Amino acid sequence: MGIQHICILGGGTAGWMTAAALSHKLQKSGISIGLVESEQIGTVGVGEATLPHIRYFNRALGINEAEFMKATNATFKLGIEFCDWGRVGDSYIHPFGDFGKPVRNIEFYHYWNRLRLSGHDVGLDEYSYAVMAAEHGKFHLPDSDTKKIESTFSYAYQFDSSLYADFLRAFAEHRGVKRTEGRVIEVQQDNATGHITRLKLDSGEYIAGDLFIDCSGFRGLLIEQKLSAGYEDWSEWLPCNRAIAVPCEASGKPLPYTRATARKVGWQWRIPLQHRTGNGYVYCSEFVSDDVARETLLGSLEGNILAEPNRLYFKTGRRKKFWDKNVVAVGLSAGFLEPLESTSIHLIQEGITALVELFPNGHANDLDMEEYNLRMELQFERVRDFLLLHYVATQRDDSDMWRYFRNMSLPDSLRSKIEAWLSRGLVPAYERGVFLPPSWIAVFTGQNLLPRGYDPRANLLSRSRISDMAHILRRTVRETISRAPDHSDFIRSYGAAIPELVSGSP
Ligand SMILES: Cc1cc2nc3c(=O)[nH]c(=O)nc-3n(C[C@H](O)[C@H](O)[C@H](O)COP(=O)(O)OP(=O)(O)OC[C@H]3O[C@@H](n4cnc5c(N)ncnc54)[C@H](O)[C@@H]3O)c2cc1C
Repeated sequence: MGIQHICILGGGTAGWMTAAALSHKLQKSGISIGLVESEQIGTVGVGEATLPHIRYFNRALGINEAEFMKATNATFKLGIEFCDWGRVGDSYIHPFGDFGKPVRNIEFYHYWNRLRLSGHDVGLDEYSYAVMAAEHGKFHLPDSDTKKIESTFSYAYQFDSSLYADFLRAFAEHRGVKRTEGRVIEVQQDNATGHITRLKLDSGEYIAGDLFIDCSGFRGLLIEQKLSAGYEDWSEWLPCNRAIAVPCEASGKPLPYTRATARKVGWQWRIPLQHRTGNGYVYCSEFVSDDVARETLLGSLEGNILAEPNRLYFKTGRRKKFWDKNVVAVGLSAGFLEPLESTSIHLIQEGITALVELFPNGHANDLDMEEYNLRMELQFERVRDFLLLHYVATQRDDSDMWRYFRNMSLPDSLRSKIEAWLSRGLVPAYERGVFLPPSWIAVFTGQNLLPRGYDPRANLLSRSRISDMAHILRRTVRETISRAPDHSDFIRSYGAAIPELVSGSP
């Protein structure tokens, strides 16, 4: 017997993204999909910054971009500005895009590295279209003509993730997903196989299923509380375990980028939506008290707060098995890495994509399950290494937290990546893993970790030729951006503005 009924537990971002994707992909398959959620329990209610891949998720569902942006108060995002990470006073942008354009199939940063080692002192970011556009508050869609510099970037969104869940709920219900309101109070299993058979709700109703998607958030009601899949704790590397989040009034036009400011202990985010600014402070309870964390956050906001601060507790790491028996964990139930690079919603998307590709055609197939678990393991580990890089590529030692990172022993995968970069500016690319070489290079250079040598392929051109090329590239970036539209104007002209932005406020 194949899968007849899928039951999704949880109606947060993970639950409704899964419901929307499966109802779209499995339409006409005869498989029914149900979703159970409890308004009384609620959702985590944070998560506002995303990665460019979400555009492909929306596009695959046929979602109109302007409508989606209006429904979620979204702005465009060209990257993340990191302040005070390398040294206090430093700042750089990790852009969604390349640095320059390849010449003779060799990435521009290799040439830049050669120039730098012979005295050229222009930063790599001056050759990034996305960085320069972000710094000037400009935005337009990437040009499809790959010869143009305006084609060398990508973008994501900053949005209200609760509204995104509502938007996807309407999408999924329209495609037949049946939502049931209620709290699950008991989970029943088949004695012989250990597979979950049905959920009992507080109303007394039973919800049966052949395949269960656990989107119940941090509690992992099915994957952990019932199946005990286990959790690989990464607090040793990513010790931040608390956050406090609060929205506030915006003080100006929304910027097309997120900001992450390192603090003495932990770091603070700032995410501009169309009508307000999302803020939060992520910290480690071992190094700072909840009260100081709250004061730090509330004392550095740009406008009046719009809601009571929301405190969140977490343990960084990942589920040992993301898919076990007939349960697949998606979202916070699968694991959590702190939101420094806006990766959670992306990991939800990776989970859904892998599930659709490896969808069981009978009872859960062991090979599919192994493949799924392996893929997700890689995704989580590679995100972990990238996040950790921000903490260890630092010259700061002004608190116990920064000293902790300076003395930490790194995962082998990260150590070898740093060594490859320092020796000759090499960043090995993986087939899987969300962050491509330009992302790594942005953090390395932005946090003052610069290579001792350069890739010998950069000798293909003479130094003066490279220097001329770099000069023209920099000028082209600047001139093109000077003609680009302002971010808010673009949102309006694109038909994606909410009334507050249309009327010019903020
Ligand atoms: C501090 C912080 C900042 C973040 N920032 C970002 C960000 O900028 N970008 C990003 O991509 N991600 C971010 N995230 C992550 C993002 O918020 C989550 O990945 C996302 O919201 C998905 O959550 P979820 O749906 O897995 O869980 P939840 O939102 O917790 O939803 C769980 C659902 O399960 C239901 N449920 C639970 N138990 C039961 C039960 N017994 N019976 C019935 N229903 C039940 C609940 O009602 C709810 O509907 C952040 C997370 C944190 C903690």
